[in-house]
Amino acid sequence: MAAAEHAARPAANTRGDAAPGRFVTPAKAHGRIGPNAITRVAEALLAEAGPAARAEIFGRAGLAAYLHEPPQEMVDEREVIALHAALRSGLPAEVLHRINRDAGARTGAYLLAHRIPRPVQVLLRHLPAPLAAGLLVAAIGRHAWTFAGTACFSARGRRPVEFTLVDCPMCRGARSGEPCCDFYTGCFEHLFRTLVHRNTQVRETSCVASGDARCHFDVRW
Ligand SMILES: [Zn+2]
Repeated sequence: MAAAEHAARPAANTRGDAAPGRFVTPAKAHGRIGPNAITRVAEALLAEAGPAARAEIFGRAGLAAYLHEPPQEMVDEREVIALHAALRSGLPAEVLHRINRDAGARTGAYLLAHRIPRPVQVLLRHLPAPLAAGLLVAAIGRHAWTFAGTACFSARGRRPVEFTLVDCPMCRGARSGEPCCDFYTGCFEHLFRTLVHRNTQVRETSCVASGDARCHFDVRW
């Protein structure tokens, strides 16, 4: 998940009233995603593969400039798609899995540090997990426009909590034997472990890259 950062909320094709179970079509006309989808991948890639591999992969994605000047605003989702394509073609699946998961967790940590107000975090941590989950899912739905690009996002707040993305940007154009949208998995899991229940496990149970119609994430604790 990418943060909204300082970008203005798109006026068109965006619904901010997402509730669990409702479909949202975020930022359809804009196709933009928060910069965490670039900057946290850069951090995770550096930690896992080192500076040379990172420079090579960002160069192949046409995004070398972002290593010198990280994006501060929402980016064109095509840049995120290009970065993930370059990652897939340059790294073994297991390494790719770790990097994307780490990048997602780093994004979750960023959101907790800068975007989710402290009193809200305290409230969620003190509520029974099912109640906290419902509130967190509703908040994630309201902010889907910041991380889903042109994908359609939907969520269900009751156990098992579920997230679904149709036309997910993280795996667009990918073919994989197993679900590969680990960026979202890592981000959802970090947020749920911190705010809802520390034993939360998030699994992507179906993925367009594996031949499914949509990417589906199952959240359990
Ligand atoms: Zn997927």
